[in-house]
Order: sequence, then C-alpha cells, then structure tokens
Amino acid sequence: MRRILHLDMDAFFAAIEQMRHPELVGKPIIIGGDGDPTKRGVVSTASYEARKFGIHSAMPLRRAYRLCPEAVFLPVDYDEYLKVSEKIKGILRSFTSLVEDIGIDEAFLDITDLNISSEEIAMEIKKKIKDELNLTCSIGIAPNKLLAKIASDIKKPDGLSIISEKDIERLIWPLPVRKLWGVGPKTEVQLKNMGISIIGELASISLGRLIEYFGKSYSNYLYEASRGIDESPVITHWEPKSMSRETTFQRDTDDWNTIAKNLAELTREVVDNMKGSGYKGKTVTIKIRFSNFETHTRAKTLDDFTNSIDILRKAAFEALGRIELKKKVRLIGVRIGRLARG
Ligand SMILES: [Mg+2]
Repeated sequence: MRRILHLDMDAFFAAIEQMRHPELVGKPIIIGGDGDPTKRGVVSTASYEARKFGIHSAMPLRRAYRLCPEAVFLPVDYDEYLKVSEKIKGILRSFTSLVEDIGIDEAFLDITDLNISSEEIAMEIKKKIKDELNLTCSIGIAPNKLLAKIASDIKKPDGLSIISEKDIERLIWPLPVRKLWGVGPKTEVQLKNMGISIIGELASISLGRLIEYFGKSYSNYLYEASRGIDESPVITHWEPKSMSRETTFQRDTDDWNTIAKNLAELTREVVDNMKGSGYKGKTVTIKIRFSNFETHTRAKTLDDFTNSIDILRKAAFEALGRIELKKKVRLIGVRIGRLARG
C-alpha cells in the first residue's frame, strides 16, 4: 500500500504578506494584479479573514472591493513568494527526494518507504515549516495522489487528514464532483445535466453511460477517480543527472597500481550510491588532474542503462585508457551520468 502525502500551503500569498507585515495579521487581505482594486485584474489569494466576505481566488478585484472595501489590497510579489516556495520545497526534500512539485504552494511526497508513521511525518513537516518560515499548511495522506489531494482540502487551515480506501464512501462520495482532480467547470455542468452533483452519484454511473457523454479516456478517468482509484506515480523533477566521486592523492603519483586501485574504488562507491537510490546510468566519465592542474576528462557511453559494477568499472578503465598519463596525477574522479530510475 502506497502512502502519498499532499501538502498545500494555507492562503499562501496572503500568509507571506502577513508574515512580513505583522500589522496585517487578522485583517482581510486581498492579493491580486498590481494591488489597485479600481483596476482590472483578479484575486490571486485572499486571506481567511477576507474569505469570510465571500471573496475567493479568480474573482475580479473590483467585485472583491465591493464585497469588502475595508480589505487591504496588495500587488502580487511573485519573486518573494517563489523564494519562500523554494525554501518549503527544500524542507520537503529533507524528508525524501520523492517530491513532485505541482505548484508554487503545493507538492506530493511519496512517503511509502519512510520508517515513520504518517501522522508523525505530517507533524514534523508542519513543525519545520512553522518554525523556519512561520507559515501553516494543510496535509492530506492517502494511498494515492487523487485521494491525498482531496484529503488536504478536508480540513483547512493547518489541517491534517489521513484517509484510507475504506474512507472513500464516507468522506469522498458526499463531496461535490468539482473536488475531483481534473473535473473543471465544464464537466461539472455536463454532469449536473445528467443529474450528478456529488462524487458518490458519479460512482453509481456505468462506464458505458459515461462514454455516451465524454471521451473514452476521460470516462475511464472519471469512472476510476470516483471510486478513489489512481495509480499515477509521484513524478520527481528533481532527479540527479549524475553521481560522482573524486579523490585527491596525498602525494601526486604516477604509480599505475595506485591510480587503478583508486579508480576501481571510486567507481564502486558511485555504483553503491546509485543502487542505494534506485538509479541506473548510461555514461561513465572519468577526470584526471595532473600535478600542473591540467585536467582531462574522457567519457564512455554504454548501450543500456545499468548499475552493474563490472560493466561500469570496465567502462571507467576504457575511458582512463584514452588519457595519456604523461605526468604525475593529482586527482582522479568518476562520474556516472544519464541516470534513470529502474
Ligand atoms: Mg494553497
């Protein structure tokens, strides 16, 4: 059973503004456009205080102003929000490298293999974000991305919802169809015309009937999503492109045995590292730096991705063989690149 965590920051832009302007805490804040509510533009984020007036994202600023003229209107400072976002993603990656970035204030983590309970990891993440950035987030944990995303939205702000497959009927089916990822306003209207407004009603429709209204692949998606089925993996864009090790000799050397022994050792370390994190590689590059700091690299590309120490070591020695060892060697390094999971 997979464990997928979805993290969603609470009123992210508004929370950042309140953090850097503490006098705004507790006040209705609306962030959008250049912060002038008499101009055209839409609400990017409204603080929870502003949401009480019925203000939500994508609403025209002028309308938001009519609903709550006393609100503080601020321009979008995307650069600042991005900086904070990167810090949050850094915190998430300190827990696992299996992080899928899905927006400035949202991410999925695959926590299946972490040796810590779902509740504990959620509390740890919340605490770290609170301590380091003074921001709150809502977290959902579920057996897949679809359910995790719905779960993070169940309790907000500062929420935590852990759901399992047996909660689908009780927690997911009463929700409006719009809560399903991939159901937009257009589909919502079409479903409404079919007499379907909640997820449970969608789950009662046969696949054949859905196909009468929607394309085949989208029907399949709706059919499975309404039943809480989602096999899609967490896709990490933050993949290392290469792994490497290098060593500087205590004393520059032209002793072939010493050089060969070190090359074999470094290759083994990189391969162990690759295996430990589930990668295979295709390119082996070696680097030699001579005593005069002249540096040479040679690469060998393999036909297939591999994590075989024999194949990779052989490739490393082939690459070394193409460097003329005409001076004493100061440093030797090995890099394995073109990494892929597998
Ligand atoms: Mg958010």
